Amino acid sequence: MEITKKSKTVFGTREWAAENFNFINGCKHDCKYCYSKAMAIRFGRKTSKTWTIEEIREKDLNKNITKKKKVVMFPSAHDITPDHLAESLIVIKKLLKARTKVLIVTKPHYECIKKICEKYKKYTDKILFRFTIGSSDSDILKYWEPGAPSFEERLKCLKYAYKSGFQTSVSCEPMLDNNIGIVIKKVLPYVTDAIWLGKANFLLGRLKINKCNDKQTIRKALKIIAWQSDKNIKKLYKKYNKDKKIKWKDSIKKILKLSRPDKIGLDM
Ligand code: SF4
Repeated sequence: MEITKKSKTVFGTREWAAENFNFINGCKHDCKYCYSKAMAIRFGRKTSKTWTIEEIREKDLNKNITKKKKVVMFPSAHDITPDHLAESLIVIKKLLKARTKVLIVTKPHYECIKKICEKYKKYTDKILFRFTIGSSDSDILKYWEPGAPSFEERLKCLKYAYKSGFQTSVSCEPMLDNNIGIVIKKVLPYVTDAIWLGKANFLLGRLKINKCNDKQTIRKALKIIAWQSDKNIKKLYKKYNKDKKIKWKDSIKKILKLSRPDKIGLDM
């Protein structure tokens, strides 16, 4: 992978797509570290307790989507859950009809992925799946992402999308333990595009806003922060930097003092 110091620095979801589309306030997955939850609480749209109530914004759902030049990431501020799968299918259809390439980013439920793959099987060249998997340990996932699917279900989704001929990728951001190599090993055979590695950004601050700052959670958060020390990140980079499928999020590039023109797939 070529490294350049000239490319413009981008971070967060902008590293993946210039535009995104969302139509729900709230998310049943209720991840303790969630940025969208922190923003919703900060701006009075939700409380830490009401975040799990998914409310459809009809205006956004009914919005006309005109042709976009670039890839659109869907969703970026909520997730695709079985409760609102029907509406998510409508949005994906509108994006595809607008001849847009769609980057579907989700902690995947098998029911949802199966339906999307079946319904849009003609669009394998227009859809890139990106499944978030920050640990291969379902207990760890359950702790940090209590409403989201287990590791086994996410892996099953990845295999299904891959076998259905779609473009596939994985996001290990945030990495939730110090064994990310296990995730990489298990998902690699089913990834056509890339595996993104990223740190847990602003973890303590987010936990505080999201009211997840009990003693046990802070203890676990401090462990993650220690695992993701600059020294350990450099070791991780050394181990995987020759692997063309591994890509580094901004949180890691900053430590390595690199900027690189990583492609997100779908010929961006
Ligand atoms: S799945 Fe995404 S939007 Fe939903 S709670 Fe987790 S981080 Fe937030």
